[in-house]
Amino acid sequence: MMGQMMAMPLLISSLIQHAARHAGDTEIVSKRVEGDLHRYTWKDVELRSRKLAQAFARLGCAPGDRIATLAWNGYRHLEIYYGSSGSALVCHTINPRLFPEQIAWIANDAQDSVLCFDLNFLPLIEKLCAQMPSIKHYILMCGRSHMPAATTIPNLLCYEELVEAENGDYQWPLFDENTASSICYTSGTTGHPKGAVYSHRSSLLHAFASAMPDAMDCSAKDVILPVVPMFHVNAWGLPYSSAIVGAKLVFPGPHLDGKSLFELFESEGVTFSAGVPTVWLGLLTYVKTNKLKFTTFKRTVIGGSACPPAMLATLMDDYGVEVIHAWGMTELSPLGTLSKLTSKQLLLPPEQQRKVLEKQGKVIYGIDMAIIDDEGEALPWDGEASGNLVVRGHWVINQYYGAKESPLVDVKGQGQWFPTGDVATIDGDGFMQITDRSKDVIKSGGEWISSIDLENIAMAHPAVHEAAAIASRHPKWDERPLLVVVRKPNAELTREELLAFYEGRIAKWQIPDDVVFVAEIPHTATGKIQKLKLREQFKDHRLP
Ligand code: ADP
Repeated sequence: MMGQMMAMPLLISSLIQHAARHAGDTEIVSKRVEGDLHRYTWKDVELRSRKLAQAFARLGCAPGDRIATLAWNGYRHLEIYYGSSGSALVCHTINPRLFPEQIAWIANDAQDSVLCFDLNFLPLIEKLCAQMPSIKHYILMCGRSHMPAATTIPNLLCYEELVEAENGDYQWPLFDENTASSICYTSGTTGHPKGAVYSHRSSLLHAFASAMPDAMDCSAKDVILPVVPMFHVNAWGLPYSSAIVGAKLVFPGPHLDGKSLFELFESEGVTFSAGVPTVWLGLLTYVKTNKLKFTTFKRTVIGGSACPPAMLATLMDDYGVEVIHAWGMTELSPLGTLSKLTSKQLLLPPEQQRKVLEKQGKVIYGIDMAIIDDEGEALPWDGEASGNLVVRGHWVINQYYGAKESPLVDVKGQGQWFPTGDVATIDGDGFMQITDRSKDVIKSGGEWISSIDLENIAMAHPAVHEAAAIASRHPKWDERPLLVVVRKPNAELTREELLAFYEGRIAKWQIPDDVVFVAEIPHTATGKIQKLKLREQFKDHRLP
């Protein structure tokens, strides 16, 4: 017998319709590339997204066509999210921090037909447009007054003119919820970037689940500032989940330095934010140096790379901001796990609670995970056994865009799962802890040393701004840990002092063999430490 319920497809357009109807006057505030602050409401987003859908149709876009963006977090980017996906086009967000050749490579791979870009990327696109033959229309995301007098970009269109030319008399179409909604490419730390193609259904289920209380806990009372960029994994779903709950959204545009973020947090009453650890490093340095306090900021999700326990402690203890440590990846839309205490854990002494919060956390409903050995055998959830982390679920890819081979692996007796490339433990309560990315693990004499553990200890030293642990060649042990460190401004710290700091905090044989101080640690386009580059940079380093 079949159920007898309405079969309404889970479509991204339904989110914006809901927000416009039920949170119509709630504000969306954006710091623009043009320099000023723009404000309007969810109702305006919906109307202008409809006009944008009309404009895309007028340009000849047909269902399935890819609309690429090269843009910061802002209201026009939000309109493109909804206007493209909502009208059965595919929103392809490209990371502007990638190398120019990679940007062109990605646009060609995805066969994008339209590229919408922010004003400050004009010189970049002028250089690249000849290398992106599939793009038929270039749209500059600004008003007429900011359009360049002359440009080498063929038929450059003005975003505001396109939107204003339409009347908004447009009905969001209904179609299969498994239709592609958007594409995001991985950062390509191992070879060419790979495309993850999300569907309307996967994006909606991800948005529903991520808003839940034990996940991001989003509500209509929130003022949400996604620091995490809309050009990478849909800003962790926040542009969608904020529409579900009708929260106010605040977009920082390209202004991600500590001062600009702090001022926006305070002036707009931000309660909730999300970002990678490097962003909080900048914000916390600014707040500390200027002896400031947050007045409305209550909680933040930190993920994308391991949140150092010292950062978690500073935010929670010194600033009263709840830190929700999360793990995810492009291939997971991106959320997989979040660390929130259960009622059982709330009875633990505070130090033990903190240890739980430092982990990457529990899966949200919709995702399942396991750790396996090299033969595909599942390992126990005892907090000790460490293995390759695999996942499956409603918002996990089963194929990369254009790939012939399946990325999935067999787990004995449990079918096909997606291998994350991470190494982790899972404890008896289902809390997962990442020990490393499989390629970053340091293998010393056959034993594994977690680079994350070494970095976390270094980050707890008051004179350390940032630290990265990498494997360095060793004649006897194969690999030994080398620590690369950026000191805090004006702080003094010697190699010996830092190595002494490890004593008693980790087994003796795991203590790094050497420390090198550098002015800066290289980061990937998504703000993670570039281990590959560091390993290359220090490949001839001689350990003492
Ligand atoms: P990439 O495109 O580089 O794969 P993703 O943003 O998809 O970028 O990165 C996913 C990877 O980031 C994960 O596989 C994991 O290695 C790392 N990661 C994400 N969140 C965390 C976290 N909280 N702790 C440790 N590592 C994390």
